[in-house]
Amino acid sequence: MHITAHLKSQGEGDEAMAADKPIYKRVLLKLSGQALAGKTQNALNPEAITHIVEEILSVRALGIEIAIVVGGGNIFRGAVSKDWQIERAEADNMGMLATVINGIMLRAALTGSSDCEVRVMSALHTPEVAEPFIRLRADRHLTKGAIVVLTAGIGQPYLTTDYAAVQRAIELRCDAVLAAKNGVSGVFNADPKQDPEAKLYRSIGLGDAIRQQLAFMDLPALVMARDFNKPIHVFDFDAPGSMRGICLGEAPGTYLAKGAKTKIYDGDAAA
Ligand code: UDP
Repeated sequence: MHITAHLKSQGEGDEAMAADKPIYKRVLLKLSGQALAGKTQNALNPEAITHIVEEILSVRALGIEIAIVVGGGNIFRGAVSKDWQIERAEADNMGMLATVINGIMLRAALTGSSDCEVRVMSALHTPEVAEPFIRLRADRHLTKGAIVVLTAGIGQPYLTTDYAAVQRAIELRCDAVLAAKNGVSGVFNADPKQDPEAKLYRSIGLGDAIRQQLAFMDLPALVMARDFNKPIHVFDFDAPGSMRGICLGEAPGTYLAKGAKTKIYDGDAAA
């Protein structure tokens, strides 16, 4: 696999990795619902969606197979169940269905802008609008070059799409999870909004991130990634070309992997 070469470029600044040769063959992009809303109050924003399409197609153009797990937070999140005085499981059902709406939007936008084949799969039964998620079928779509949008998380309540992203990346043998953040450069050792001294990690081990309770992704997702050895890149999706850069070994943002060395951007001292 490409991970050793990738770590080399991270650790030693190997310029050769910057050549237009992808370091990954298959990736899983975790896109939050917020990415579809942009900075607006609306759930879906045309400019934000155009940006998503451009970023995804720029990675696909490298020949990389791409699966996407889309969130639903722009429409509904199960965590608000108490505010509505409804059962958590019902709220989670709504959240999962919200991701299906986003998935259909992505299919419509991607197919409207390219001749790429796009498949939307759902972990809940919604056969009129999305194929059921069947692992081997998703694998086959990816092998044939389709962009596969995975909706409804894993179809179970009390979880989020972060967890679904890591699980699907493992199931589908993706080389890495690309965890897109909006307006956040990566993983910091403290909340940069509260602490102006907060440092951005270049890389950190998944076990260390869990121990330090760095809250950039849900804990179950991080534990799963650590236990099944799935690397994660956390990066600013708003910065054009950053996802493509990661796939070319330029590695903006933070790289997390089991046993990865802790490095920070200014001087690479251990944080
Ligand atoms: N959800 C769920 N099971 C899953 C994935 C998601 O119940 O496997 C629900 C949960 O309520 C969650 C919502 O779907 O809050 C939307 O997903 P998420 O919050 O992860 O969206 P994001 O924050 O990425 O936009």
